[in-house]
Amino acid sequence: MHRGNEIRQKFLDYFASKGHTIVESSSLVPHNDPTLLFTNAGMNQFKDLFLGYEKRDYVRAVTAQKCVRAGGKHNDLDTVGRTARHHTFFEMLGNFSFGDYFKTEAIQYGWEFLTEVVNLPKDKLYATIYLDDDEAFGIWKNTIGLPEERILRLGEKDNFWAMGDTGPCGPCSEILIDRGEHLRCDAETCAIGHCDCDRWLEIWNLVFMQYNRDESGTMTALPKPSIDTGMGLERLTSVIQDVSTNYDTDLMKPLIQAVETISGKSYQPGEAGFPFRVVADHIRSCTFLITDGVLPGNEGRGYVLRRILRRAVRFGKVLGIEKPFMYKIVANVVEQMGQAYPEIKEKQEFVEKVIRIEEERFHETLHDGMRIASEMVNKIKAQGGQSLPGQQAFILYDTYGFPLDLAEDIAEENGLAIDKEGFEKAMEEQRERARSARQDESYGAGMELWSALSQRYTSTTFLGYESTSLKSRI
Ligand code: ATP
Ligand code: MG
Ligand code: MG
Ligand code: MG
Repeated sequence: MHRGNEIRQKFLDYFASKGHTIVESSSLVPHNDPTLLFTNAGMNQFKDLFLGYEKRDYVRAVTAQKCVRAGGKHNDLDTVGRTARHHTFFEMLGNFSFGDYFKTEAIQYGWEFLTEVVNLPKDKLYATIYLDDDEAFGIWKNTIGLPEERILRLGEKDNFWAMGDTGPCGPCSEILIDRGEHLRCDAETCAIGHCDCDRWLEIWNLVFMQYNRDESGTMTALPKPSIDTGMGLERLTSVIQDVSTNYDTDLMKPLIQAVETISGKSYQPGEAGFPFRVVADHIRSCTFLITDGVLPGNEGRGYVLRRILRRAVRFGKVLGIEKPFMYKIVANVVEQMGQAYPEIKEKQEFVEKVIRIEEERFHETLHDGMRIASEMVNKIKAQGGQSLPGQQAFILYDTYGFPLDLAEDIAEENGLAIDKEGFEKAMEEQRERARSARQDESYGAGMELWSALSQRYTSTTFLGYESTSLKSRI
């Protein structure tokens, strides 16, 4: 059996043998790109090369890129644990051409890697192309020899890729594999290219980068047609290891097992295993995000991290885990991935501390919050209500630190909807109150004093560490 760590290496080696420079994964916090919450694809770090703003001494590159899809245009937070194939954090394998090769080689390399390097069965593979992309159709049919009935023409949703609302984009061609009858869903219409279930697994997206979309939505041609591809390592590994879900691969299984040990419960596939999968997924995001400098907080990236972490903690509680535990699984992530990403090894202790503190903080209110939440839910159900009012979700948020996702999970587990608009309204009202409080003069003066004091305090501490004269006196 090929281990996940070997598959990553095989990919890098294959493209290196085709003249690609192996480039390190960039940080999950996008460098200098305010349009992006987290790195969501391998191409992000090369955006300026595609746009022609930057040149490097290579025109072909290959990467294994850390990605998080938990916000912005690509957000899979809700799907995690429900499908076999979606994570918040995952590794994207990709090869890139910056104005060098284009469609033919991209398709040839992709096909060769899948069928000759990792030996996937040719007769189970399908290709999708963008509507009228006859050029791609011709390459699949004539150069590769894929039977016509296994080439599908799909629309913008599936076969026109964009990293965000603006930036490089283009039509794409994807490689899908039939995972077999046993994974088919219940839909009568379940068919390749037309069903979102786990049977028809999308493994690789080959993007023909040709345009740049600006804020007004206008597309202009890139200086040179380029190639950007992306394939999820966890998905590819599930196919190679012939297991039903990403969580059964050797990349994720040890994390599921760690949750089993801590909870004393055993993992089951399907519905019952949902909390295990959520925790196993979320601990990877937390470990990698904190390593890359994100800290739990109330805004932006920090709040997404807090949401992920608190969600995992609550699912831990569903499994009967009453004490901080997430920080203990960091070691398993490091053991599995520390060689490929040495930064998580270096930061391990720090990451554990941050997670532990956040868990402890949340545990202070989690117990009471859960009690209040079930009281709320029971009352609504007893009264025949269908949904959790926004105002009540806001109480859970404001008093007990429950991000909206948690209230949503709880509502859903009880067959209720949730009034998100009402929640946003309550949020806005609170912001308004805070704004008028800030305008209050005496409060303002107090803030100034506090800020002056805190500045003085930090600068003194800072000197204590940095000043050599002080050091020499110690
Ligand atoms: P899907 O349709 O399955 O949600 P996608 O079309 O959104 O995937 P792309 O943006 O084309 O995905 O990304 C390229 C590849 O990255 C996918 O073909 C898949 O192998 C992998 N991938 C995408 N999203 C995820 C995810 N959330 N978790 C794991 N792998 C993913
Ligand atoms: Mg998707
Ligand atoms: Mg897709
Ligand atoms: Mg895709």
